[in-house]
Order: sequence, then C-alpha cells, then structure tokens
Amino acid sequence: MDALPSISEELYEPLKSWFSLAGEKPYRFRQLTDWYFKRPEVKSFQELANFPKALREKLERNFSFLSLSLEEAKPSPDGSQKQTLLLRDGFVTETVTMPMEGHYTVCLSTQVGCPVGCRFCFSGRHGLKRNLTAGEMADSLRCSLPPSGSESLNLVIMGMGEPFYNYKALKAFLNICKDGFGIGSRRVTVSTVGVLPGIERFAADFPQMNLAVSLHAPREELRRQLIPRAPSEIKELLPVLKKYFAATKRLVTFEYAMIKDVNDGVKEAKELCGLLSGFDCKVNLIPLNDVPGGEFKPSAKENLERFVNYLRERDMNVTVRRSLGGTVGGACGQLADKRNN
Ligand code: SF4
Repeated sequence: MDALPSISEELYEPLKSWFSLAGEKPYRFRQLTDWYFKRPEVKSFQELANFPKALREKLERNFSFLSLSLEEAKPSPDGSQKQTLLLRDGFVTETVTMPMEGHYTVCLSTQVGCPVGCRFCFSGRHGLKRNLTAGEMADSLRCSLPPSGSESLNLVIMGMGEPFYNYKALKAFLNICKDGFGIGSRRVTVSTVGVLPGIERFAADFPQMNLAVSLHAPREELRRQLIPRAPSEIKELLPVLKKYFAATKRLVTFEYAMIKDVNDGVKEAKELCGLLSGFDCKVNLIPLNDVPGGEFKPSAKENLERFVNYLRERDMNVTVRRSLGGTVGGACGQLADKRNN
C-alpha cells in the first residue's frame, strides 16, 4: 500500500481545502464523504460512479482510499466476527462485530499493543508498538460495520490499547463517529484502566458518551498484582469518577474480570460492595477468556453465581457479560496478532 494520506486521515478541513484548491465544486467533497460514510462496501476511488474519470484519477494520485486493508473476516459460530486489518507499516489491528438483541456492537482498538500489560490480557503482553491515528480508527470501524451499517450500532472502545493514552486521536475519531457515521453519543462506550486526566477530559468533551473503568479488584494490592502498571490507585480513582458522575449524570460501569481463586471469593464480593457503597454505578462481571499461555483461569460457574448473588442481594446494579468471539480469538483480552510482537 502506498504512503499517500487516506481520506479518513484528511477529514474534514484538509480534504475540503484540497477540493477547493484543485478547482473542484464544493459538492464533490460532500459526495466523497457520502461514499465514505454511507457506502462501506466501496473500497476504491474507481468505484465512485458519480465522479468523472479525471477526478477519480486525480484523487488516486493524491490520496489512498483507506489507511488499512481488511485482511481477514473470521466468523464465529456465536454470530460474532473478528476482522483482522493490516496497517500500512505491517502492524495489525483487530475489531470484533457482535450481534446483540436488536442491534450490533463493534469493539474497536486504539493502539497497536498496550502499555498497561494487565496480566490476564494477551493484547498487552508485548507492550505498546504505537498509537492508531483517528483515520485508522475510522477505517477500522468502516471495515467492521454490520450489514445494517452504522444505524443502531453500539460502539465500544475496549479492544487493544488504553484509549486515554491516545486521547487526541480518540477525540478526533469520536467526533467522526458522531458527525460522519451518525452514531449517537449514548451508543458509545469508552473503557479505561483509570487514566485520571483522560476521564476529566472525556467528561468535558463527550458528556453524553459512556465510561467503563477496568477495576478487576476491590483493593489496591490485589489490583496491582493484576494490573502492575495501573495509572492510578483506587483511592485516587473513585473521587474522580464521582466527579465524573456529578458532571455528566452518566452511570460509570466497573469492569471486573472474574478470575478463579484470585478475585472471585466472598471476601472480594464483600470488599467490592463496601468500596462502591453509596456510588450510583454498574458492575459488569466478565468471565475470563482463555489466552495462550495464560497464568489465570476463569472462575468456576458456582463462584461466579455466588459473586453475582452476593452483589444483587445488596442491591448492586450488576450484569454478567456474554462472551462472544472466543472461538476466533476475538473475545475480551484475546486480541493480539503475532505481527505486533
Ligand atoms: S486489558 Fe486493556 S488495558 Fe489491560 S493490557 Fe489489555 S488492552 Fe491493555
């Protein structure tokens, strides 16, 4: 693939100016963005049927249509599909498209690899390789849209990487999601491991989007064991999240991977209730997925049930995530292509 900038990397002003400087009518810019956002099956300038040949060729000399290419789409028997997307420098990003009740959810990545290195996650095992650009995220989404397109689509930024360590690109991408793909803010969830300045900026920039926080343990020492490079301590994190809720009125979701004999006992359930008592929030328990050479095991079914029941009996708002994509390496914590190592 050539090194020309892609359409997605030049949205919106640079592309608009290019049309103007090239002496093209302003409506051509609108037509191009319509092709980009509304016709995801189109993958080249040559397919732009309402553009004259000369303009298609001029665009081709100045831009690449996409910043990445869809290398493989692997369907899982559970209905989900993992997309493997080859970036121009040979790294790989992955996305997962999942059918839910009445809509689809797409899970996207923001980095190649991850600097956080949670011990139960395959994505962070080889550290961070680089940030994705906003354009690469937009192209990842475009290549992962379900047959219904971006309508009724839920977007979760929970793939490879810590989104708030790549905030500038994330912000540009989220604006493209709203203004270009037409995805309502309330349908977007960004997950962080607790980057405090990122949470504050996100509350100010996108007060109607949703925030999920990877907690995974109710006490600092256990959380450090699981997330050695957690960017904040629990005691710093909670006040910031309470401020986030006060400012946005959006319930924070705490993600909690259920790990056998590590964080799934009654002791931890009790500590979690204590920690979150009086905080209007949700807890999402995630059955741990197998990762190659993983040192942890998923909680036994009875431990998971006991944990859920303990929380529910104390009126906590708790859900258990349905795991999708496991058979194609597309479930939580499994995303990582060997070319990124
Ligand atoms: S769970 Fe998230 S934050 Fe932790 S290593 Fe994996 S991708 Fe990074």
